[in-house]
Amino acid sequence: MVPALWSGIRKHRRALVLVSLLLLAAASGVSMAQVPAAVAAGAPPPAVPVPAAQPGGLYLSSFWLGFVMVTSALWLYLTSWVCDDARGVGMNAPTYAGAMIAAGGFSTALALLVHAAFGFLTLVLVAGTLTGYIILRNRVAPERFKFLGPLHRAQILARVPLVNKLAAARIRRAALKPSLTLTNAEGQSLNDILTAQPALSEGARLLSDTVLRAGATKTRKVRLQPAGEQYVAQYILDGVLHNVESCASDVALQALGAVAQLVGLSKEGRLRPGSGEFETDVPIVGHVKVGAQVTSSDGKPSLVLSLPDWTADLYRGGLGGLGVHDAVIKRLRSAVQQQKGTVLVCGPAGSGTTTTLYAIIGLVDIFTTDIAMIEKKSEHELEHVRRWALSEEHSFSAVYDEVEREGPQVIVLGGMETREQAGALLTFGSKDGLLLTVAKAPDGPESLLHLASLAQDPALVGNSVTCVVSQRLVRKLCTSCREQVEPDPVLLKKLQVDPADPGVWFKPVGCEVCLNCGYQGRTGIFGMLILTDPVKDAIRKAGATPASIRQAAGHAAFRTMYQDGVSKVTAGITTPDEVNRVLKAQ
Ligand SMILES: [Zn+2]
Repeated sequence: MVPALWSGIRKHRRALVLVSLLLLAAASGVSMAQVPAAVAAGAPPPAVPVPAAQPGGLYLSSFWLGFVMVTSALWLYLTSWVCDDARGVGMNAPTYAGAMIAAGGFSTALALLVHAAFGFLTLVLVAGTLTGYIILRNRVAPERFKFLGPLHRAQILARVPLVNKLAAARIRRAALKPSLTLTNAEGQSLNDILTAQPALSEGARLLSDTVLRAGATKTRKVRLQPAGEQYVAQYILDGVLHNVESCASDVALQALGAVAQLVGLSKEGRLRPGSGEFETDVPIVGHVKVGAQVTSSDGKPSLVLSLPDWTADLYRGGLGGLGVHDAVIKRLRSAVQQQKGTVLVCGPAGSGTTTTLYAIIGLVDIFTTDIAMIEKKSEHELEHVRRWALSEEHSFSAVYDEVEREGPQVIVLGGMETREQAGALLTFGSKDGLLLTVAKAPDGPESLLHLASLAQDPALVGNSVTCVVSQRLVRKLCTSCREQVEPDPVLLKKLQVDPADPGVWFKPVGCEVCLNCGYQGRTGIFGMLILTDPVKDAIRKAGATPASIRQAAGHAAFRTMYQDGVSKVTAGITTPDEVNRVLKAQ
């Protein structure tokens, strides 16, 4: 409801101002016929000019009517400006536009209902709210986009005769300055390089604008690579590649030259393949380290910028923060509290299973429980968890012998690869303690069969595993631009959603915040399979298939990712298209 209202205001701001003025005139009940002839002719108004009340509305003199019309027009126009501007600089538009509406709405109501002089209050409140907004947005907006910042002042001056030529030169200089300060490990900045080589300035602008945009949209990687006669900038946002802009080859080569000098990949003015790192401060996001890799593609140099893994700390928000349904969390908590059995998280590579595994560790009481983590490489620091590294020198059997001697209550492992590992760990889960692990399989039934064939012991899998969480990552609708829609009744029927209570549905639109794709950020869709006795029997049967396990589980013991996806569609988080895209790509 609210986002739809904002997008309406944004699209029709001029029409809205006009309509509200007409409404205001109608509400005041004034027609020129009612204005005393003396006032219309400009003579001083009589001592008691206002009749008590006019039928059909409020009475306002034409002066006060004009005044209230002007103040409300100004208020409505500035509100829609705040709405637009907030989106442009990535601030929460509904909040700030809402503050403007509240400030102006209150005083305009007073002006209409009590006395038109309250129009002055409209001016004061709207100006105050606007000033507050501008102070806040200038704190986060890049230098070049600051309200009344150097560039903006020059743009205003450029409209004034006589000084406009001077201002135009200043605009060109300001526009060519990089939007961010990029610094290398030695503390040298991109601006220092430009002072020595002003010819690279256009490319440096492209580079810093690219880093700014990538940082602000939380893009993971950007590739600047040749495409025909030109270069194209490709952004990988939430696992999807977007061709965002194309640029002239000479500008792209300047950008490559600038970044190569910054990270030390330039020798006597020539690029050499390799990688380096620089850092910068991105508004709102904060300090960011960016990896730069120069390679060659089609015989021309190309650039890959790598930004941080923005989701690395996601597990700290717990399972609820990852989007796991309350019922699934409850089931997982009881499985973890038993301190026995195996909890399996499954999904293909890149589906966020490790993050979920870490969040499940959060359900264990780490102060009273002895947890051992066996891993190849350490991804996150976890407090109160003992870690055991697997490597060439430290084979699994050697490490596991040590772990067994310590007698932990919980073992965490990023995935089982051999029969030996599967046998030892599933036995631990069935007898001694709790095993938390990951399987690279598409869903619950398939991961059980995969494990059964790895361990070559289906009965052990049935005895050890208590439940399987399966997951995928779906992109979330960008909250800055999504538009509310009425769900299609045919689709509701297909998705088995109650048409009487369809929830809220949105469609993706696209804006500056989301690289125009309509989605920003990701959340998980989760399925769960509980190992009830019929499921255990189905695994043990010769010739067990995913379908036979699914059938044995029935609806009570098997919640699908699809069901969870639909619940995220009706909650306005994502779209049916996105859920289908993710579930079809296996
Ligand atoms: Zn957007």
